[in-house]
Amino acid sequence: MPGKQLIVFDFDWSFVDQDTDRWVFEVLSTELRRLLQTRKSAGTGMQCTPDVVNDTMKDLYEKGFKKEDVLEALRILPFHPAMKRAVTSLQARSKDTTFLCLSNSNEVYIGTILEKHGLTSLFSQIITNPAHWNPSAPDHLIIGRRLPADQPPHGCSIGCLANMCKGDELDTYLAANGGKDSFDKIVYIGDGGNDFCPLLRMRKQDLVLCRKNLELHERILNESEKAGLKVDVKYWEQAWQIDE
Ligand SMILES: [Mg+2]
Ligand SMILES: [Zn+2]
Repeated sequence: MPGKQLIVFDFDWSFVDQDTDRWVFEVLSTELRRLLQTRKSAGTGMQCTPDVVNDTMKDLYEKGFKKEDVLEALRILPFHPAMKRAVTSLQARSKDTTFLCLSNSNEVYIGTILEKHGLTSLFSQIITNPAHWNPSAPDHLIIGRRLPADQPPHGCSIGCLANMCKGDELDTYLAANGGKDSFDKIVYIGDGGNDFCPLLRMRKQDLVLCRKNLELHERILNESEKAGLKVDVKYWEQAWQIDE
C-alpha cells in the first residue's frame, strides 16, 4: 500500500459490534437500560450522551454494582475476530498506516475493551469523552464531556451533540500531525449520525467505509448532495468485509 495512510475508527457499531453505553446496562440491569433510553430521548432528544450515561452510572453505583461488574460487562462486549484480524494484519504489513479512534463513548470503556483484546497499542490516539473512577467511591464511574459545558460551544451546524464535534476533532488531529495533506489517504470507518460531520472534511482521494442501514447511511443518502460530500463511500455489513 503506497503512501502515508490514516485509518479513523468510530468505536460503537464500527470497531466493535455493539453500543458500549447501552451494553453495560443491558448486561447488568434492564431497569437502568430502560432509564438510559428514557433519558436519552427526553425533551429534544439531543441530550449529550456522556451526560445521560453519567447519570445512569450513578444509579448503577447506588444500586450496589461494583467496578468489576462494569469492567466484566465491557470485557464480554461483542468484538468480531475478523475486525481484530483486519487491523492487526494491516498494522503488520503497512508501517505507514496510523490508526486513530474517534468516539463518543469514553476512555474507560474503550481502554478496557482494547486491553481485553490485546490492542492497547493499536491507536496512536483515542479521542473520546473523559472518564474516571471516583477516588472517594471507587466503584462509581464518572463520565465527562470531551468539550466541557463551561467551554465555548463548538458551533458545528451539521448536528453534532454539544459535547463533541467529530469534524472539528478530526481537523485538530490532522493539524497537529503534519496537516491533512501529509496523508495520502484517510479512511473513515463509521455508522452513526455523528460520523457525518467529519466526512465533510474529507477529500476525493479518501474513503469512507459506512456500515449499511444505520444512521450514517441514511444521512449520506439524504444530505450528501446538499452538504457537498466529496469523499468516496463504500458500504459494509460485517467485519470480514472490512478485512477484505
Ligand atoms: Mg458508532
Ligand atoms: Zn460537527
